[in-house]
Amino acid sequence: MTTPYQHNLDEVIEKIEFARLQVNAHHIVKIVAVSKYSTAEEIQSLLEVGQRAFGENKVQDLITKSQELEDLPIEWHFIGNLQKNKINNLIDANPMLMQSLDSLELALAMNSKLKAKDQTMDMLVQVNSANEASKSGLSVDETLDTYAQISEQCPNINLKGLMSIGAHSDDKKLIKQSFEQTRALFDKLPNNQDLICSMGMSSDYELAILCGSNMVRIGSKLFK
Ligand SMILES: *Cc1c(COP(=O)(O)O)cnc(C)c1O
Repeated sequence: MTTPYQHNLDEVIEKIEFARLQVNAHHIVKIVAVSKYSTAEEIQSLLEVGQRAFGENKVQDLITKSQELEDLPIEWHFIGNLQKNKINNLIDANPMLMQSLDSLELALAMNSKLKAKDQTMDMLVQVNSANEASKSGLSVDETLDTYAQISEQCPNINLKGLMSIGAHSDDKKLIKQSFEQTRALFDKLPNNQDLICSMGMSSDYELAILCGSNMVRIGSKLFK
């Protein structure tokens, strides 16, 4: 019997396949299922049909859901805006990847708390390539310098690439431009063949892949 989750995941995988093969046969794209509006039970249903990576945007939700599902082989990602007073909680939750590092100041604060706990964490730097006031992230102009500064000054942070949210628009050209901006920055990162370019959500993941994304964060299309 095909569950709705199986159907949703199959549909997304099929579209990802079609897009990634237009980039090239070796362009692998990873799916992070964004579970911020979903219950632990719904996450478990999607896990049962093969989805392993899940993303939350609130530290408290990450903690609650990862505790509820702690016996299951889930890989957690943090994708939200992190307030300074939640840094220790996030470190204790120990996600596989923190995707939303959006300032040098936050990086320094996280680094010192990581150091105190003798831990490291993999992170992506968030870029506000659509240049929208409502979005977190570094501006395009400051991203490469700040990325280099974090690499130098924060030994307990392992930088793994960039994350960006596409332009909030109905105009495909604008969305495409924002993805291309992010990808152009990504192409300038040192040793980027092993790095992550996380862009694309339910409404625009195929376009993001065509622009070079190798990680998509999909919520509503998987949990509908
Ligand atoms: C909510 C969210 C997503 C997923 O959004 P959908 O449109 O439901 O796919 C992806 N990335 C971030 C940072 C989010 O907050």
